[in-house]
Amino acid sequence: MKNIGDIPDEAQKFPENFNPNGDDLTSLLLLNALPQQVWTANAEGIINYVNDTICRDFGHAQSTIIESGWESFLHPEDLPESLHIWHESLKTEKEYTTEFRLLFADGHYYWHLARAVLVKREGKANIWVGTNTNIQDHKNIEFRKDEFISIASHELKTPLTSIKGYNQMLLRKVEDEAIKAYLLRTEGQLSRLEKLIKDLLDVSKINAGKMLLNIESFNFSLMLQEAITAMQQLSPNHKIILDNQLDLQFEGDHYRLEQVVQNFLSNAVKYSPDADRVMVNTALKDGNVIVSVTDFGIGIETAHLGKLFDRYYRADNSSARFDGLGLGLFISAEIIKRHGGSFWIESELGKGSVFSFKLPLDPGRPIVPEIKNSNHYKDQYLTISCPENDDIMYVEWVGHQDMRSVKHGGALMIEYLKANPRSKVFNDNRLVLGTWSEASDWAAETWLPEIELAGLEFFAWIFSASVFSQLSAQKSVDNEEKTSEIEFFHSADEAMLWLKKCKSV
Ligand code: ADP
Repeated sequence: MKNIGDIPDEAQKFPENFNPNGDDLTSLLLLNALPQQVWTANAEGIINYVNDTICRDFGHAQSTIIESGWESFLHPEDLPESLHIWHESLKTEKEYTTEFRLLFADGHYYWHLARAVLVKREGKANIWVGTNTNIQDHKNIEFRKDEFISIASHELKTPLTSIKGYNQMLLRKVEDEAIKAYLLRTEGQLSRLEKLIKDLLDVSKINAGKMLLNIESFNFSLMLQEAITAMQQLSPNHKIILDNQLDLQFEGDHYRLEQVVQNFLSNAVKYSPDADRVMVNTALKDGNVIVSVTDFGIGIETAHLGKLFDRYYRADNSSARFDGLGLGLFISAEIIKRHGGSFWIESELGKGSVFSFKLPLDPGRPIVPEIKNSNHYKDQYLTISCPENDDIMYVEWVGHQDMRSVKHGGALMIEYLKANPRSKVFNDNRLVLGTWSEASDWAAETWLPEIELAGLEFFAWIFSASVFSQLSAQKSVDNEEKTSEIEFFHSADEAMLWLKKCKSV
């Protein structure tokens, strides 16, 4: 079968450690018959075999591809991220998975899903076996869907704005009270439609990486007050109470942050139909502004908490009774993350929920250690101690965490475990507030394999009281290939007892 690039026949180079007799030869014929790109690399990551499909796709002979290296065929925009992930896998020896565009002989780039695993022989790193699967069709469908949503929502916006305008004109002119009531209802429905269209537009912007922030200095307290006043007008059945007032000037996107507050407020009202108040609380803590919106409504089951900020996700108890697309929190999460902040939820089914977010006042501010010596470290987020004559490393996390503080603390844990070799970690989250959910995927995929390589065998994790934080903790170690034993505890004593019993083999 001939494919994209016709390539000259040449003597096949075999994968490393290949036995050209018997089974290995059959495997090679099989590899070349596969429509998928298949490759191998040595333990250092140097490509040493590519199958026929790769040669046909790239339009080059095997030797040319191996000599020029993978990088020459990768889209320049995808190169840094792919190389980073590849080097991480080489270091941790864990599965390599990424998506990138590859340049084919027809001059076009095609999206591929790359996967590789390290095959060990006699316990030694031997060969990486990888495949690249062409996912261009899938990407095209996704792209068309996003494009459709983007065009449709753009096109819907213009007539809707006119209808709203005409409706308002009528409202001003009409004197008949009955007709006025209908027009007011129409206005309410138009606002809902407008919100849905705006959300769809925002999602397509986020998907296309085009949600730009307009950073300016503004009065944060005034922004909050305006969002509350606007929501109060729309929600006569709830009293929205601002618990305390800060006077704070903030650098960020005024419009986008107001959108986050509006979303939290409108959810608080929507999901508490039988309640009569919503509380808003603000605080300044450790260089962050924290905003919490509390409602006394339907609440959320723990199982749903970690997923609510995903796109189109809606909890079971709300999807049938309340309208919505499940986009508001996804958009809010993106806006908060883009400001270097984080978010979390506390909730009890049937009692109500507290949705909070935190924004750093100075996102670039360095984390300065208060103590740093060879076996003891302390900064505002965590304390690490490796006492002499003890086989446990003690780590205590404090306060609100975010991506930056978790990555920083995680790297320090590895550094201290290497400098003070031991296999047990007592990881105390009791003083953690809120969550670090955005860092969970990073922790599971990157941090856990690295700390295992640094010697970790037994990890006792004492939960924070925050359920959202507990879910994040569990997600942080959700790695099928983990080699260490990880246990979660609600009590420090139990954690200690377990650690003392653990024995390295
Ligand atoms: P939408 O409200 O349009 O469904 P959101 O993204 O704002 O979309 O919220 C996602 C889901 O989170 C909601 O469908 C609901 O299940 C849940 N949720 C959000 N806020 C609350 C709240 N204050 N109380 C209970 N459930 C909530």
